Amino acid sequence: MNNNVLVFIEQREGRILPASFQLVALARDLAAKIGGHVEACLVGESVGGLADEVAGRGAKKVYTVDDPELRLYRAMPYTTALCAVIDAADPKMLLVPTTFMGRDLASRVAARKRAALVIDCTEVDLDGEDVVVKTTLYAGKLSGTFRLSKDRLQVVTVRSNVYGATDPETGASAEVVAVAVSLTDGDKRLVVKEVVSTTSGIKDVTEADVVVSGGRSLKSEENFKIIYELAEALDGAVGASRAACDAGYQPHTRQVGLTGKVVTPILYIACGIDGAIQHIAGMRGSKVIVAINTKKEAPIFKLATYGCVADLFKLVPLLTAEVKALKSAG
Ligand SMILES: Cc1cc2nc3c(=O)[nH]c(=O)nc-3n(C[C@H](O)[C@H](O)[C@H](O)COP(=O)(O)OP(=O)(O)OC[C@H]3O[C@@H](n4cnc5c(N)ncnc54)[C@H](O)[C@@H]3O)c2cc1C
Repeated sequence: MNNNVLVFIEQREGRILPASFQLVALARDLAAKIGGHVEACLVGESVGGLADEVAGRGAKKVYTVDDPELRLYRAMPYTTALCAVIDAADPKMLLVPTTFMGRDLASRVAARKRAALVIDCTEVDLDGEDVVVKTTLYAGKLSGTFRLSKDRLQVVTVRSNVYGATDPETGASAEVVAVAVSLTDGDKRLVVKEVVSTTSGIKDVTEADVVVSGGRSLKSEENFKIIYELAEALDGAVGASRAACDAGYQPHTRQVGLTGKVVTPILYIACGIDGAIQHIAGMRGSKVIVAINTKKEAPIFKLATYGCVADLFKLVPLLTAEVKALKSAG
């Protein structure tokens, strides 16, 4: 085992998830403390072309696993691919973004490599050679600090937007190492028949810097149009409470909360959402929270950075118009 920090770069259809670059920046700081350097791992089909983009963020070496079988994410072949990279790189630590893919992959890789694992960390640091991480427990009610043994590989998934990415450096290049894997029939036993897009062009809640969410108070799918308009004006994603999803106003892929997705955007706008503990569990890590609610006692106001006691049907269109006006004024 060396002192290098390996970052799993999540990409889909050749587009790198911005959270991956945040982890490259974190890896640079950690590696510098122990005299190591940053290495990155790209898995997919024809991913070699993305190596310079990763090098521009500070990776010294980029391992690529290129195979048509890896075009779409599937747990088993990706686990085999990432384990092959770990064998080649022999890093001290593996950083993975906390996404659906990251959670699934990191836990499988950690099990296969007998590594230490902590999911969804909000702080990652080194104390001597030990990795010390912080994560939240019991739907965000408690915060736990864990020290990972230096004697085995340490696998950590890190929440998006907790660390910032560095600006891209043009002209940077890294050593690119192609790692060959032979996928077994067992690896390929799950077959993707069809990819159904539920996002229709608008961003997923876990990927956006701005999330505008609507609650049961929207009353219909059609009324969510005003939420989409504000999200689009802010280049953000649309989220929803479980009550809104259960009522059929939005698909469950947009649900934020304990049984939905956990989001940590820079700005979260909760429109007509009461602030039940199960909803808060999914968005309390947002940097700035704006709540719009007609009821001034609504629990969401206890958490909100800015609270507006107002009718969302009046305020949201006004906000959208204001954002558009500011954008067109340059
Ligand atoms: C095991 C379990 C898991 C759960 N997981 C989740 C989860 O992942 N995510 C989640 O969200 N919930 C989850 N829930 C459900 C959660 O407890 C709440 O029922 C749900 O979040 C309520 O959604 P809501 O705030 O949209 O609706 P409501 O509770 O009905 O609140 C609507 C709010 O809108 C306000 N309002 C009404 N009209 C207007 C208007 N015109 N303008 C502005 N404000 C208005 C009201 O004052 C109220 O505050 C879970 C529950 C359980 C038991």
